[in-house]
Amino acid sequence: MRKFVYRFDEGRKEMKFLLGGKGANLAEMTRIGLPVPPGFTISTDACKDYNEHHGHLSEDILREVMLHLAHLEKASGKRFGSTENPLLVSVRSGAPVSMPGMMDTILNLGLNEKSVQGMIHATGDARSSLDSYRRFIQMFGDVVFGIPSYHFEQALVAIKKEAGCQSDTDLQPTDLEKLIERYLDIFLTESGRDFPQDPKEQLMLAITAVFDSWMNPRAVIYRRLHEIDASYGTAVNIQTMVFGNTGETSGTGIAFTRNPSTGEKEVFGEFLLNAQGEDVVAGIRTPVELSQLRTQMPEVYEELMTTCALLEDHYQDMQDIEFTIEKEQLYILQTRNGKRTTKAAIQVAVDLVHEGKISTEEAIMRIAPNELDQLLHPAFHVDALASSSVLATGLPASPGAATGMIYFDAASAVKAAEMGSKVILVRSETSPEDIEGMAKSEAILTARGGMTSHAAVVARGMGKCCVVGCADILIDEQEKAIRTKSGHILHEGDQISLDGTTGQVYGEELPLTEAELFPAFDEWMEWVNEAKRLHIRVNADTPADLQTALHFGAEGIGLCRTEHMFFHEERIPFVRQMIIAENIREREDALEKLKQMQKEDFCALFRIADGRPINIRLLDPPLHEFLPKETGEIEKLSQASGKTVTEIRRRLTELAETNPMLGHRGCRLAVTYPEIYKMQAEAIMESAMEIHDEGIPVQPEIMIPLVATQAELALIKNEIKTTIQQIFEKERLILPFDIGTMIETPRACIVADQIAQDAQFFSFGTNDLTQLTFGFSRDDAGKFLPSYEKLALISRDPFVSIDQDGVGALVELGTVRGRMTQPNIKIGVCGEHGGDPASIHFFHKIGLHYVSCSPFRVPIARLAAAQASLLEHRSMETV
Ligand code: ADP
Ligand code: MG
Ligand code: MG
Repeated sequence: MRKFVYRFDEGRKEMKFLLGGKGANLAEMTRIGLPVPPGFTISTDACKDYNEHHGHLSEDILREVMLHLAHLEKASGKRFGSTENPLLVSVRSGAPVSMPGMMDTILNLGLNEKSVQGMIHATGDARSSLDSYRRFIQMFGDVVFGIPSYHFEQALVAIKKEAGCQSDTDLQPTDLEKLIERYLDIFLTESGRDFPQDPKEQLMLAITAVFDSWMNPRAVIYRRLHEIDASYGTAVNIQTMVFGNTGETSGTGIAFTRNPSTGEKEVFGEFLLNAQGEDVVAGIRTPVELSQLRTQMPEVYEELMTTCALLEDHYQDMQDIEFTIEKEQLYILQTRNGKRTTKAAIQVAVDLVHEGKISTEEAIMRIAPNELDQLLHPAFHVDALASSSVLATGLPASPGAATGMIYFDAASAVKAAEMGSKVILVRSETSPEDIEGMAKSEAILTARGGMTSHAAVVARGMGKCCVVGCADILIDEQEKAIRTKSGHILHEGDQISLDGTTGQVYGEELPLTEAELFPAFDEWMEWVNEAKRLHIRVNADTPADLQTALHFGAEGIGLCRTEHMFFHEERIPFVRQMIIAENIREREDALEKLKQMQKEDFCALFRIADGRPINIRLLDPPLHEFLPKETGEIEKLSQASGKTVTEIRRRLTELAETNPMLGHRGCRLAVTYPEIYKMQAEAIMESAMEIHDEGIPVQPEIMIPLVATQAELALIKNEIKTTIQQIFEKERLILPFDIGTMIETPRACIVADQIAQDAQFFSFGTNDLTQLTFGFSRDDAGKFLPSYEKLALISRDPFVSIDQDGVGALVELGTVRGRMTQPNIKIGVCGEHGGDPASIHFFHKIGLHYVSCSPFRVPIARLAAAQASLLEHRSMETV
């Protein structure tokens, strides 16, 4: 017979696919002797069985659950539903991959009209017993029957008012009895049935609700956002309750073994006295810092600190621990690897290496490349900050800076973001329903909640700037307005700025600057560098881009797109004159002016590159991107060129192409107008010589785009060589340089062995190669690719992550064939794929020399390359 249920003392941490993350860790903590309230886990196998039986718990599962329940009764000496000493349990979901706040937990299950009397009898504490019962009705109503919490919240607020109480804990037993009556009424009205009084029925309803919640929309969205496999299923943990709501020597809290924002080595956490479970996480009451526990209950505090150290040591990673104190007795209810900012992740990894706990390889593997994005996020310009006044201050929940328009509900935020606005989501507090709105926003601001509230945890996971617990402001979600203490009012659509590093809120748009890196990052990046085999270059057309990229560790330019150098307003007229020129003299006039501009640019790049290779691609303008369209522009061109408007219009008609992407561009332009590449070759080599004269080494690589045949490459290459030869003779100086080609047509991949006879290097232009291999126009793909993704006709957008089976296979073929002719030919990749981690793993595997990507992707590419290399070693070791 299959086994579906496991006692906590039967499992261990490695069993998380069977027991879920929460269950496996509860088992592990039980096994190593920590004070975990006893319980059992209904496995993910049971969830799969439940789904296979279309939402029915099979007899086998039911029998096993009952058996384990009986065991729990025996072990605790309490009975389910007893009127003297009732057993109460929590029902907690737990999937193999942590999904914080995604699935719902029910506490105090087993209470009913009679057993609540039993609990009073056993504990002698009517207040906390009745409080537990009313919490149970609310949670059960919400989780199992979908009764909105506000019905219960309203009743709670009303009764507090009637009784003249400030806090929940001030309510007297008689008040609570009244409240329970009202809760039961609400339950009946909203669900259409009486509150189930039979504890076993309560338990079965709760278990099926957890299994059902695996497929609820917010869980589905979360899994989609985090690429979690939907077939895992969830486990259910049934655990004996302990009570943090039994007075001032009880409480509940959360501890991180290190600071989850900065990574600093200090236990960091929050707790609430006289409170139960969700109170801390939900952010309804604002919790106090853990350090206060030291004065209030020093022994418990010490035990908690020892436990933190022990768990961190055991898991070799920063832990996020949930605990409850019942009458000065500490219980541990959960541990998991703590979510953290990227900054903290790197700091912790580096510190753990120094503490001798993990290897540098492990420290490299622990950070997902895309997480680095977060570090490279901007901050506010210091000067702007100095001259701007702070509107309000909250808790700095997730670092970074953002500016945008405020929206007060997730749906409006999503809508505005989809219209192209930068959006900041403003909420009293967030809940899992807000996930999509949070994902689409630049940043999140909440008025309530602590550093471990839903908003804070989720924002850190997403790498989004977030400020929580901002008590300086009042949010009116109905009226869609923020009121500040100083009397400011902000409405939907107004601009604010948030600093997630300081917690400050500004009532205006502030300019942003680049991220600053920190010492542990540099050290960690050294390890990354030593581990990787691929070289990382940058796609840069301007000195500023190159400067940024070098700062991030780029090893040269992999692609300098010369047509981008012409996009400037003051240059475009000369480009246009060159294009509309009707004879070689007109064209050479325009080219001469452009040459001076290009030389300035190249000199600047060579100077900054300081001997690193610069791959310059000769002009490749899809003509339609450069030609004037509006009458005003045409008139301007007419003035600049001395041609009449009619002449220009006629020329534009001549030049118009039906299919510009497949048209007169790239090397085809050079076949018809050789003087263009001649000018560029001169500009490159003359500037290289100037910089060489300044005593700075130069390494130019001249790249010819869109080649399909060896013959066209040979023709153009020879023309360029002749031009350069003439310069050398004139200047009586010879400088080394390479001429090579972009490989971006499928034909070029197939005949790469021929092409390699005339190229000193290949650079795969995977953007165009993807376009031409699929026959998908890059400019029009937005119209149909989303449907392809939705219908799973493709697994990922092939312009984002390389299609390994098709386009990737062509890259591999081109590489193999190129090397047949020239074993040492230098081969790289430029284009978007050069910064995509999955693609980088592929390029590593097929043995390329380098990838090139945009400046802000450089660190991500370096990390992905290092991980590809480490994984290769690991798999070699295991064979
Ligand atoms: P989540 O995954 O959302 O954190 P949990 O299952 O961890 O949900 O539970 C929510 C809250 O209830 C936590 O604060 C947890 O500590 C508390 N809790 C869970 N089980 C028990 C229990 N047996 N006794 C007391 N508190 C519990
Ligand atoms: Mg938890
Ligand atoms: Mg191209």
